[in-house]
Amino acid sequence: MSASFDYDVIIAGGGPAGSSAAIHLATRGARVLLAEQKKFPRAKLCGEFISPECALHFERLGIVDQIFSARPARLTETVFYSRRGKSVSVPSAWFGANGVALGLSRAEMDARLLRRAGDAGAHVLEDAQVTNLLFDDAAVRGVVVKQGGRESRYHAPVTLDATGRTRALARRAERNGTKLHRAPLVAFKAHFADTTVAAGACEIYFYRGGYGGLSSIENGLSNLCFIASARDVRACGADAERVVREVVCQNQRAAKTLRNAKAQTPWLAVTLEKFGRHKLSPAKGLLTIGDAASFIDPFTGSGMLMALESGELAANVISNHLSGSVKDIDELSAKYKAAYKQRFDSRLRVCSLMRRAAFTPGIAAIAIRVFGLSDHVRHVIARGTRRPSKANVASLD
Ligand SMILES: Cc1cc2nc3c(=O)[nH]c(=O)nc-3n(C[C@H](O)[C@H](O)[C@H](O)COP(=O)(O)OP(=O)(O)OC[C@H]3O[C@@H](n4cnc5c(N)ncnc54)[C@H](O)[C@@H]3O)c2cc1C
Repeated sequence: MSASFDYDVIIAGGGPAGSSAAIHLATRGARVLLAEQKKFPRAKLCGEFISPECALHFERLGIVDQIFSARPARLTETVFYSRRGKSVSVPSAWFGANGVALGLSRAEMDARLLRRAGDAGAHVLEDAQVTNLLFDDAAVRGVVVKQGGRESRYHAPVTLDATGRTRALARRAERNGTKLHRAPLVAFKAHFADTTVAAGACEIYFYRGGYGGLSSIENGLSNLCFIASARDVRACGADAERVVREVVCQNQRAAKTLRNAKAQTPWLAVTLEKFGRHKLSPAKGLLTIGDAASFIDPFTGSGMLMALESGELAANVISNHLSGSVKDIDELSAKYKAAYKQRFDSRLRVCSLMRRAAFTPGIAAIAIRVFGLSDHVRHVIARGTRRPSKANVASLD
């Protein structure tokens, strides 16, 4: 790679996607800059359900001991509750790996991943916001980073947008094209003491206009994360406690498990704009990974898995480029897009079909009753939200 570049790869965003890509690339000798706008550890709005397949990624990332040193809760099933309290269970074992999901705060998980990226050799900047892209001949050739009131310019032939749902870099590249949609949904999260969530379960509650998840995390606390319609949130004066009481607790099971719950952290809230896939290469030299590439429905509990997986996928294709077997940036984008679609498109399609049920309590109740009749049907649908079988995945990655 040309010495005129400061780095081989620049990564904006130090969530699971950015850290995964940085660790895989740096351990293979690439010169990596990772710029994260926050100082870690930081709280993050998320269900904090770490799907069982993430264990394989933690192994490949060399971070298993660090994750377990945070004492995550072990989650052996996800139980979906209709408004009236009917339930259906999906065992974590159906997702393979070691068959156990983990409950761990994003503050702990993300900080450990970012630290590992630095240990692996990536140059990690915190409190460092990527504010602009540098173009040369219509190709992205670097970024502007603002840190402590100072702006610096860094150059690399490949830049990864790992800034999550904000897609900060992709939006800049698509400046003329992307419209901001009016957000129809609002998500909230806080940690609680004294819930009565079942041990080892991630409980999902459906109610009018949304759904929420409650599960154990480290230190004997529970994480409550839920999505409600913007209309209902406005009707509750945007007061999270009121939304819990008047909307989430329409679900009988939620009303029971949250009866004596006490919030231990401030509420976090974000608006949600759009699910599904975005552009994978919004400009020459710029690839998207994690939520910046696709936002999968949270009830699948697989967003972090997709973030880790797409970070690794991008790192594999970029490594082939650095070693010369993928010859130029156009071929790099084409290979990444093909590998990404093959890996993720079918699960994104399954989730978009299930989305309607998730946001319509009547349909959710019928689905819970019907899926409750057959382990086989439940198993097939649960697997559909994950990676296709090996037989369907060619060796592009
Ligand atoms: C309500 C809700 C519940 C969810 N529950 C779950 C769940 O239980 N399990 C699960 O697996 N997934 C869940 N998800 C999805 C999961 O949170 C995401 O898929 C995952 O965080 C994506 O990781 P990422 O690295 O792509 O982005 P993020 O985790 O969003 O990380 C992006 C990082 O980029 C940084 N950044 C942003 N802009 C800039 C910039 N300009 N410069 C530098 N840094 C920048 C941010 O500070 C952030 O640290 C949930 C999502 C929502 C909305």
